[in-house]
Amino acid sequence: MRIDSHYLQGALEELGHIGSRADQRGYYRLAWSPDERHAHSWFRDRLKALGLRVWTDGAGNSFGQWDIGEGPALAIGSHLDSVPSGGNYDGGLGVLSALAAIKALQDSGFRPTRPIRITAFTDEEGPRFGTGLLGSKAVAGLLDFDQCKNAHDDKGRSLAEAMAEYGFSIDNLPSVKATLPDFYGYLELHIEQGPRLENSGVDIGVVTDITGIAQILVTFFGVANHAGTTPKEDRHSALLAASRFILALEDFIAQEPQIVGNVGSIEVSPNAANVIPSQAKLRIDVRSPNEHALYRAVAWIREHAALRDPDATVSVYHQVSPAHMHTAWLPVIENAAEGLGFSHTRLVSWAGHDAGILAHVIPAAMLFVPSHRGISHAPEEWTAFDDVLQGAEVLAETAKQLAGMGEVHRP
Ligand SMILES: [Zn+2]
Repeated sequence: MRIDSHYLQGALEELGHIGSRADQRGYYRLAWSPDERHAHSWFRDRLKALGLRVWTDGAGNSFGQWDIGEGPALAIGSHLDSVPSGGNYDGGLGVLSALAAIKALQDSGFRPTRPIRITAFTDEEGPRFGTGLLGSKAVAGLLDFDQCKNAHDDKGRSLAEAMAEYGFSIDNLPSVKATLPDFYGYLELHIEQGPRLENSGVDIGVVTDITGIAQILVTFFGVANHAGTTPKEDRHSALLAASRFILALEDFIAQEPQIVGNVGSIEVSPNAANVIPSQAKLRIDVRSPNEHALYRAVAWIREHAALRDPDATVSVYHQVSPAHMHTAWLPVIENAAEGLGFSHTRLVSWAGHDAGILAHVIPAAMLFVPSHRGISHAPEEWTAFDDVLQGAEVLAETAKQLAGMGEVHRP
């Protein structure tokens, strides 16, 4: 399957003009922003140019379907939104590779036995409203609608208002799941966002599992008092309790091969050098591809927060179950890579993806291409174009197998 490299390169460059800012580095295609919606409309024009049937669902997901064959469609794609100051490859590469893959299949004269649908999901990243994976969750019927109705960005704008600005009603989100029967399965190409492929010199990563995630707010309490006059033995600093907890958590995680964790945020009250802290709020992200290990991490956090401060409160405010890729599809990707002469390895994804949501309800599979120096969610995110092309070729070959095996019929 020959990928039109000029087509793919051109698409990457065009997308690379959407959502950049003159005074800041990286991309700002935040969900329901003018830049994200611009990326979707640009993408829909690209879909139309391939002769596909194009539409947008009630969650703002964009689709283009090659209406050949029968039955539910094989969906291929990713997302077009970015984190603030993100890169052009996270999500975008999966969507554009799908475009290039369909173009290659069309150009080759291949006739799928089932429809193929190129997909760009809305709000995969979630930093604006805290509603990550919104588009794929809506399709999968796994959306927390109450959370969506209460979601606001840091300017106080509600998700409902942001959606309405583009003609979408938040009340239509629950109905999007009615479209799920039209999906046969989902295939996603993505950058690895880590250094394993590059470091090992392997071309293609075949994802076996997508990590589960728990984000936890732990609040420690102390007693605010004068930093100079309070006797040493009478000081109760919430921040000291939190600090000891953080170091203990690091030791716990170091001994757990299947768990990673990060304390990424501390809010201290009253946050003044000369006042003993009365409150310290930690936001923790723990991940594991193993459900039991994830439970173990959350249980550890509850137990050890209480050890440092009996009054500490622990709340899990975001949770995603680990997802397992469709076992029968892993060899399809591997055979496609081998047939093209590319090396491959199986690995776990430590980042969440739309494929991880859809895997709970339909067959799903994912392949990774290398991320240079493992950098992602940053302006330096980059994948060599040779690696991009190889990934698109494997994607096209895998889609060909999944969408209808076999004979190439010239139209
Ligand atoms: Zn992504």
